[in-house]
Amino acid sequence: MKQSVKVKLLDLVPQYERIKDEIFEAIGGVLSTQQFILGSPVETLEGRIADFCRVEHAVGCASGSDALLLALMALGVREGDEVITTPYTFFSTVSSITRLGARPVFADIDPATFNIDPASIRDSITARTKAVIVVHLFGQTADMDPILALGGERGVPVIEDACQAIGASYKGRSAGSMGSVGCFSFFPSKNLGGYGDGGMITTDDVRLAQNIRILRVHGSRERYFHDFVGINSRLDAIQAAVLTVKLGYLEEWNELRRERAAYYHELFSEVPEVTVPPVTEGNVPVFNQYVIRIQRRNECKAFCIENGIGCEIYYPVPLHLQKCFSSLGYREGDFPEAERASRETLALPIYPELEKGQQEYVAERITGFFQGRL
Ligand SMILES: *Cc1c(COP(=O)(O)O)cnc(C)c1O
Repeated sequence: MKQSVKVKLLDLVPQYERIKDEIFEAIGGVLSTQQFILGSPVETLEGRIADFCRVEHAVGCASGSDALLLALMALGVREGDEVITTPYTFFSTVSSITRLGARPVFADIDPATFNIDPASIRDSITARTKAVIVVHLFGQTADMDPILALGGERGVPVIEDACQAIGASYKGRSAGSMGSVGCFSFFPSKNLGGYGDGGMITTDDVRLAQNIRILRVHGSRERYFHDFVGINSRLDAIQAAVLTVKLGYLEEWNELRRERAAYYHELFSEVPEVTVPPVTEGNVPVFNQYVIRIQRRNECKAFCIENGIGCEIYYPVPLHLQKCFSSLGYREGDFPEAERASRETLALPIYPELEKGQQEYVAERITGFFQGRL
């Protein structure tokens, strides 16, 4: 019989219990207006996110996946174009490209940080490269300076997929404020999670922001008059109200995640079999996930589950090897570091309310697994 869960991978209940009254009030405020699509709650959140990320404009939309799609649409990406990105990310970083008929061109990752390797981007740029999407994976930003320099040199805009990195910073600059466009997700498991789907796009470029505002409402500047074919991708007022409440706590919650990451670091410091995620110079990560690298990963995962420890593999199949992308012609061996990461990584429980005793239990079990003491 499977043992009951002792430590969940993510538990949102304690956070909800703490802010319940504020949430009820915020949702009640929206219900009393009976205005559910966009409107002033969304405008308020857009302003707050723009301030938080230190950008000029923020535009709400229906999901992080749509944020990526809208960003590419606004940059004019279309059939025949190439977009460079990482094969080691969530699916929609890449499906946003193929949905527009453009071709994803993959560049391998840095094995230490799991983020796209700037040198590998340089090798992949062609005359058809229309954009680069970098992903700030697990909440730590990619090495942006060389990437932005390369983008500037070649006239290629850089999109930041910051869905896992709201509040993270790189050399004092906020995730989502460094490239031409930043994309955020408010999926419930993100550091700023709504009570359903939601997303946001950030930019300093007023024209891009205006275009995205039009594209998210079917491409109409004025209702029923369509200059472009856009999509239906709006943020709900109820989600915006919830997110505005939660944004007030985000900095504190991100700090608590960093403290928990530091404690795991300490707990695993004498366990050479476990490689903990490094924090690179100039980076302030937000640990949307806490991902270790280990051998015998699948065995260790099964062992964790048996011991009531929630854990997950992000991501078991790199995107160049997904069946739906087989027509791109990539093969096993093309991106060795992404492939190795897919075999060796395991995400452990992390969230602001995670208790020390729970972390000690996780570390004690995993240490026992590797050192044969169990
Ligand atoms: C969550 C996530 C997305 C997609 O966000 P949704 O809101 O679920 O559509 C895209 N990219 C990355 C890296 C993500 O983690």
